[in-house]
Amino acid sequence: MVETGRLAPDREGIARAAALLRAGYLVAFATETVYGLGADATNEAAVAALFDVKARPLFNPLICHYASAEAAFSDVAAGPLAERLAQHFWPGPLTLVLPRRDRTRVVPAVSAHLPTLAVRVPASPAARALLAAARVPIAAPSANPSGRVSPTTAGHVLSDLDGRIAAVLDAGSATIGVESSVLDLTGEQPVLLRPGGVTAEALAAVAGPLAARAPGGAPRAPGMLASHYAPRLPLRLDATDVGSEEALLAFGAPLAGAGLTFNLSQGRDLTEAAARLFHGLRFLDSEGRRSGLAGIAVMPIPEQGLGRAIVDRLARAAAPRRAELAEKVRVAGSGMA
Ligand code: AMP
Ligand code: MG
Repeated sequence: MVETGRLAPDREGIARAAALLRAGYLVAFATETVYGLGADATNEAAVAALFDVKARPLFNPLICHYASAEAAFSDVAAGPLAERLAQHFWPGPLTLVLPRRDRTRVVPAVSAHLPTLAVRVPASPAARALLAAARVPIAAPSANPSGRVSPTTAGHVLSDLDGRIAAVLDAGSATIGVESSVLDLTGEQPVLLRPGGVTAEALAAVAGPLAARAPGGAPRAPGMLASHYAPRLPLRLDATDVGSEEALLAFGAPLAGAGLTFNLSQGRDLTEAAARLFHGLRFLDSEGRRSGLAGIAVMPIPEQGLGRAIVDRLARAAAPRRAELAEKVRVAGSGMA
């Protein structure tokens, strides 16, 4: 056990967080998407500790965070499309998968020994200040145990990882609330590996048509596990009624007869719903279990704009947990790890 410090995003807190990272410790920090758990991406022991604390499978690569596009593109080979996307969407919730450069100091474990590396320049002021002060690339997945609901507040991080990480840089609630969009630029056509904070519509407006991930085929990204973001209570999607044993995750006017309810957005606003999604799942999971409920019914969400990212997270949160194990074994055995 270590004492997990709670740091303010002021000059002193940023300097302390950066010093801890540079000394090889794990520090959680606010970004505009969710809270990330950071490690110095050039430090093998720190990266190993990061996988360990999250119990993250070693074949699931991490996103590397940078203070600027220039810094990011010194570790990966960026063509004209990557440059254009960076100009439009960085700093912001977009991750680009690109070929690793040979001379990068980022340790191979960060990208699960793949020839590619996922890079992002986040927008939140606390994250930017931390990255500038750390002066090394920071590998940062979400600051929660692998497979579980992502954190959008420092409180969420501490409830999952208190005593296991050095510090959390607390800059309030994450404003976007869902993870970055992950765009693979290593093939002929850009492939959206994960819908996220930049909408597919906005990406296509800059990048042209996006290829879909091969349906049912082997995942392009080792991290695309079927079950993820999962609360302990099971989820029932696209609910048009709610049982007496169920909590309700509502979108718009709640279903008749609902008891314990968390409304993502009364006014059916997808931006508001994304920002409240993980908090709502955590709230219904803990309150629901405390009051002996058996599951969470989820009202339908339109699959457009940020709704795509929300529906993606909910589908994974609802996926059978056994499938996750089977898929891990299949992916690990396929030589991708
Ligand atoms: P997380 O760190 O939990 O936000 O997840 C990062 C996502 O980016 C995962 O779905 C990874 O599989 C994906 N990712 C990271 N690096 C790569 C890479 N080199 N190639 C493909 N996908 C990647
Ligand atoms: Mg995650």
